[in-house]
Amino acid sequence: MTHLSTTSIHADDIHNRVSDVAPPINVTTTFRFDNDNLIPEAELENFIEAIEESPVYARETHPNSIRVQSILSSILGGHAAVYNSGCSAFHALMFRLNPKRVFMDDAYGGVETIASLIKEKYGLKIFKLDQIEEFAEKGDLVHLETPLNPFGICTNIVALAERVHKKGALLSVDSTLAPPPLQNAWDFGADIVMHSATKYLGGHSDLLAGVLVVKDVETQRALIKERIYLGTNLGNLESFLLLRSLRTFEMRVTKQSENALKVVTFLHENSAKYPKVLDQLYHSSLQKEEFVQKQLAGGHGAVFSMILKSVEQAKKLPTKLVYFQHATSLGGVESLIEWRAMSDSTIDPCLVRLSVGCENVDDLIQDLDQGLQALQNAAAV
Ligand SMILES: *Cc1c(COP(=O)(O)O)cnc(C)c1O
Repeated sequence: MTHLSTTSIHADDIHNRVSDVAPPINVTTTFRFDNDNLIPEAELENFIEAIEESPVYARETHPNSIRVQSILSSILGGHAAVYNSGCSAFHALMFRLNPKRVFMDDAYGGVETIASLIKEKYGLKIFKLDQIEEFAEKGDLVHLETPLNPFGICTNIVALAERVHKKGALLSVDSTLAPPPLQNAWDFGADIVMHSATKYLGGHSDLLAGVLVVKDVETQRALIKERIYLGTNLGNLESFLLLRSLRTFEMRVTKQSENALKVVTFLHENSAKYPKVLDQLYHSSLQKEEFVQKQLAGGHGAVFSMILKSVEQAKKLPTKLVYFQHATSLGGVESLIEWRAMSDSTIDPCLVRLSVGCENVDDLIQDLDQGLQALQNAAAV
């Protein structure tokens, strides 16, 4: 089997159209027909395959989204459909399955909102995970985000998959916070895997994208067919950016994972240095349950959270840091910190979320240490 770093550089070689080593950016929305080989749409045996072979119109397919899809299929271990955002991907999943009931606990805000909009408009019923036994039926969807934003802690997929499958329902796993090689959701019973590619897959805070991965090519084709008419294919320029990002995907995400583990370990071991500032630390590396190491077989995610002793400290800490940028989002090469109340109206206002990037880890630790120390000194007066 070819390894992740190789496939992320070569899985799209089959789509080479020109001699350029770096594939060109194709901004065209329309493609000339081959006048020597004109096959009308009605006579095409497989429409999706035909437009992947010879693109016709960019909302359907275009060269770089086809390349991206090949790489994502390969590195995410299934059949991928790429979208213009993670939210588009989740909406596409809901549109495709059209479940009567969805079961989910905490999930990404946008994902929860999509479900509640569908509830409002079309009568979807939304339940919690502890209601599966009572209400789930065949054709329903159970959605799990693990590791969970903003805490970076994880839930046992195997245990949930068993409960879901007993009812004949499907399990989708939002694996955005721990893409392969960290977590391979297929190994634990997921039926559908989704990622916001805006995060680690993109990794440079400069593109929005999403992906659904399914096990069979028929479902992938069906998703792509619907995507064509929902108009949510990934754009030309974004596809190029994502393609470029994917070349370095494995080294970025493994470095981020290693850095995050070192940062969290440092904070955990040195928490006594900031008794008036640091209240709690959340990350999968601090979870004791046995399943955690198995599930995050390739390493922990690079997002974690801290609860500080006061709202004022949570608001101030980001202003004391040099390298951690005060901004929302995660997964990019640049480390971020966010006073989470800025973009989540329901969160504990003492919570700050951190996303660890690819900088030198000693610099990151030193940065956090001086920031926490400054708040500790201020609080100790
Ligand atoms: C960001 C994110 C999404 C949504 O992705 P967009 O690309 O912003 O639409 C979904 N799930 C998780 C876990 C995320 O972090």
